[in-house]
Amino acid sequence: MVILSSPSGAGKTTLVKLLSKNKNFNISVSHTTREPRENEVPNQDYYFIDDKKFQELIKNEEFLEYAKVFNHLYGTTRTPVIEKLEKSQNVIFDIDWQGADQIKNKKLNYKLITFFVLPPSKKVLFDRLSNRDMKDKLIAEERMKEFSRDVLHWINYDYVVINDNLEDCYLKINNLIDAEINNGSKDYDKEFIRKHIEILTS
Ligand code: 5GP
Repeated sequence: MVILSSPSGAGKTTLVKLLSKNKNFNISVSHTTREPRENEVPNQDYYFIDDKKFQELIKNEEFLEYAKVFNHLYGTTRTPVIEKLEKSQNVIFDIDWQGADQIKNKKLNYKLITFFVLPPSKKVLFDRLSNRDMKDKLIAEERMKEFSRDVLHWINYDYVVINDNLEDCYLKINNLIDAEINNGSKDYDKEFIRKHIEILTS
């Protein structure tokens, strides 16, 4: 299991798609109560469901994890994930820190590697958020505030990677996964990351 979390706008969704394609990872499709964006495909990007259905899934204990993010509910159902893992297939999750914590705490019997993806700077993040289909600047500003809170959770992840250049960031994650699997040496500078986070949060 590989989890990629990041503050909104750090480019994680593209990375998840790249990893799934090149490394043969199944993307875990989440359920959400938020409205689909224009470019999103139902049942592929998300299962878009209403609040009532979401509560039903909670009640029936179908979620491996779920959380409220930006006023909407998001969750990963257990069965499809476990079925794939049981068949020795890899699964990649694009979920927030709350979900990552829940999966980590379940201590399932499958190897888990967690990554926190960060933007190179606050300015780049703001520009990325403002350029989305949601042109609403207020949303971008709200998500910037959320960013300052989210970033504090970096400490609970195995690795933090900076998405300055998509290809470099992908290769970094790819190499760390390979090193984890093969018990190889890891090219990872925790001090550099700590300094980067100091700058992002100052
Ligand atoms: P977005 O609405 O931009 O697609 O996603 C908002 C946030 O919700 C992202 O940080 C994304 O990783 C997170 N998210 C998406 N699906 C899930 C899920 O199933 N569980 C949790 N905990 N977070 C999710």
